[in-house]
Amino acid sequence: MAPASPLPFPRTRPQEECGVFGIFGHPDAAQLTALGLHALQHRGQEAAGIVTYDGHHFFTHRALGLVGDHFNTRAVMDQLPGNAGIGHNRYSTTGDTLLRNVQPIFADFAFGGMAIAHNGNLTNARAVRKTLVARGCLFQSTMDTEIIIHLVATSLYSTVVDRVIDALRQLEGAYSLVALTQKKLIGVRDPLGVRPLVLGRMGEAPILCSETCALDIIGATYIRDVEPGEIIVIDDDGLRSIKPFAPTRQRFCVFEYVYFARPDSVVERRNVYEIRKRIGAELARESHVAVDMVVPVPDSGVPAALGYAEECGVSFDLGIIRNHYVGRTFIEPTDNIRHFGVRLKHNANAGHLAGKRVVLVDDSIVRGTTSVKIVEMVRSAGATEVHMRISSPPTSSSCFYGIDTPEEEELLASRMDVDTMARYIGVDSLAFLSPDGLYRAVAGTPRDPEHPQFCDACFTAAYPTSLTDYDGCIPEQLTLLTESH
Ligand code: AMP
Repeated sequence: MAPASPLPFPRTRPQEECGVFGIFGHPDAAQLTALGLHALQHRGQEAAGIVTYDGHHFFTHRALGLVGDHFNTRAVMDQLPGNAGIGHNRYSTTGDTLLRNVQPIFADFAFGGMAIAHNGNLTNARAVRKTLVARGCLFQSTMDTEIIIHLVATSLYSTVVDRVIDALRQLEGAYSLVALTQKKLIGVRDPLGVRPLVLGRMGEAPILCSETCALDIIGATYIRDVEPGEIIVIDDDGLRSIKPFAPTRQRFCVFEYVYFARPDSVVERRNVYEIRKRIGAELARESHVAVDMVVPVPDSGVPAALGYAEECGVSFDLGIIRNHYVGRTFIEPTDNIRHFGVRLKHNANAGHLAGKRVVLVDDSIVRGTTSVKIVEMVRSAGATEVHMRISSPPTSSSCFYGIDTPEEEELLASRMDVDTMARYIGVDSLAFLSPDGLYRAVAGTPRDPEHPQFCDACFTAAYPTSLTDYDGCIPEQLTLLTESH
């Protein structure tokens, strides 16, 4: 059993890392949304949902599981008519893998219907929820996103856009949102711009989505990133940009570059694959050790390992093979399955490893589960030395902005120094990329300690917003009945 949390908040805090997609004014809105979500599958594999509007009614289909498993038949797609649609891939680590927690969420307001899909995590959700419940609001889910629905519903402003702005001004944390009303597609990025959101176009139809890979899959054109603090309103009159929040310094999540975003995406005008190779090169410059072979932990370690191998002139080899029919290790919500998942996922390419000195390159060590198993595997395959290099600094703090890092005491780096971690993992040496090295690779300059250019709180504990729910120990009000599906 895991030790009790020393932290002043429950272990079941909501965490969501998700992908969103929205399109306006295209006859194949649902099909294009399903394809977009398929390209964004890496951002969430637990559930998917699409809401469309046909000029008279809203339609929705939401399901637990992968996009391709549910949005794959004529029968399902025919239930989603209309020229406008939004969709969502969900990944959460709470126990609440319930259909009622699958997005987009929809509600009827005084101004008509609206559906919302959210990527990110609010850090004052419980505090705001408590106030709303005291005022009589009835919650139907455990999602922090539902708070936005209630804030919009109870806002005293008259237009939908003003109500959305009013709602968002009361929130802290990270949000990239797409929302669909009877007349409008709305996209929002929080003032810090923690999560990505891009604007594209398919013919004349505007698109809002988490990453450019969702534009590529349907042959749509990338226009630009939605700016931090920007609200984009799309309707029959065209596209309008509003910046209703006080300007603040951007803090895009640096872990999107390290691990989360798809390598073929361009995020904040940077190609993720190129960044990962540069990160690998920095890692080699900082901590190269004499070896015969550079081996990536697939798939996430591959671009960094390529950059590492290129930089130090050592051969790059696939010493570990990944089974692609298993999802990301962390996506499975329980510990047992997570452990089981790691064994299912990787196998040593034994013939290549025997008698070799190997450096393994992975993007991060979180609980250490993957590293322990991989190192054991590589040693059993006959490697004579096993070194490990990690293309990010030690992950020592929880993320409160939507990446699934576990509670702090479960993070290996919060309990051990690097030498102890090396012994625990069973390697001859272990080194992490420095924060400055990471910043140099991503932005070309070292980290500014006064004003870090990114959100790197998982490595530095420098949280860019208040953490009202967690600092104030707001109790949970999540007493919903559980459902089985
Ligand atoms: P662990 O086995 O707990 O040390 O986790 C590290 C492995 O999980 C690395 O191989 C990463 O590629 C991967 N990883 C890191 N962060 C995440 C995340 N938030 N969600 C899913 N996988 C992750």
